[in-house]
Amino acid sequence: MSACKGVNYTTMRIEARVPPIVATGFVLLCVIAGAADPGRAESSGAALGRQGWEAIRAGQITEASRLFHDAIAENAHDATLFLGAGLAAHLQGQEMEARTALQEAVRLNPKLTAASLLLGDISYRQGDLETAVRTYEAALEVEPNNTQIRGRLEGWRKEAALHSRFQQSLSPHFTVLFEGPAEQRLASAALDALEAAYWRIGTTLLAYPSGILTVVLYTDEQFRDITRSPTWAGGVFDGKIRVPMRGALNDPRQLEKVLAHEFTHALVKSMAPRGVPTWVDEGLAVVLETGDLKWAERLARQAPSLIPLPRLHDGFLSLPADQVPLAYAESALAVRMLIERGEALSLASLLQDLAQGQDFAATFERHFYLSYSDFHSDFQVAWGQRVR
Ligand SMILES: [Zn+2]
Repeated sequence: MSACKGVNYTTMRIEARVPPIVATGFVLLCVIAGAADPGRAESSGAALGRQGWEAIRAGQITEASRLFHDAIAENAHDATLFLGAGLAAHLQGQEMEARTALQEAVRLNPKLTAASLLLGDISYRQGDLETAVRTYEAALEVEPNNTQIRGRLEGWRKEAALHSRFQQSLSPHFTVLFEGPAEQRLASAALDALEAAYWRIGTTLLAYPSGILTVVLYTDEQFRDITRSPTWAGGVFDGKIRVPMRGALNDPRQLEKVLAHEFTHALVKSMAPRGVPTWVDEGLAVVLETGDLKWAERLARQAPSLIPLPRLHDGFLSLPADQVPLAYAESALAVRMLIERGEALSLASLLQDLAQGQDFAATFERHFYLSYSDFHSDFQVAWGQRVR
């Protein structure tokens, strides 16, 4: 457990437990797309809306956004068009625009639960717990038996009650919430570590998150309760950085590592809200913790076979539990290999292109002058694997 005990692989497992908003989007897609009645003549607004959903399904988000805006210009009373515009904005990381569109969707049709769910989710991830709770309360009135809404609402109310008792400390780029005077010293140490991570990691990737990031320091029990994570989790980023204080007072280095790791996730998310393979995201977070990677090298060398990197694109949750440490190790080693080949800035511009919805393999080749499959072969050979 030595290498696995830290933030490394544990963090991602928790992140993967947070219901992905994009998945919510695709649930919406089925609902809306299935609602079209091919027997009836479509208005041009409806036709544009249908094309918008098709564009979203095809991953052409910019085009979808344009189609929904055109559709709304034709018919500003159809709530589903605002839902589509909101989803498209969200998938491009334009959260304020997404919220405005979704609020309009809910205003036009309070029974459009899909819009309420997405609006609540985005509000929560932006740290607006009050709006999130209010939106889900209204959605629950429409669907009193919806256990998903009920469950999340309960969790959010619990969080709001807990945080209302917390104190806060501020620095130029972070707000740290903590329970009471006993944690004041730790909160100051956390702020120092966060500001150091902000400049060190931001300078490495030449990018800085916009706005103030909220960081919450929990007791271990509060952390498990709020994030519903297992005892070994090192931290979570879900719009806020959440950290259990386990032993942190005795081991400031560990706290620094956890905060640097979660800050990197926040930064990656702000640079590319979508399209980033999990191994790139986790690999950057582990590499930029600044701890050494000997544990990862050992795991990779000892593994009978490596997990192919393309299997590490969509979270690690589908992997058998005993493969998860190796997934983190490979992610870190692959990112380090990329940095050694092309500098961290190539990774930063890769992220920027992914944010535009560009294909990963094509973008990869353009930035690293090497095909993704050749890199994958080199990576496997570097760790003693035979490549066909
Ligand atoms: Zn992570």
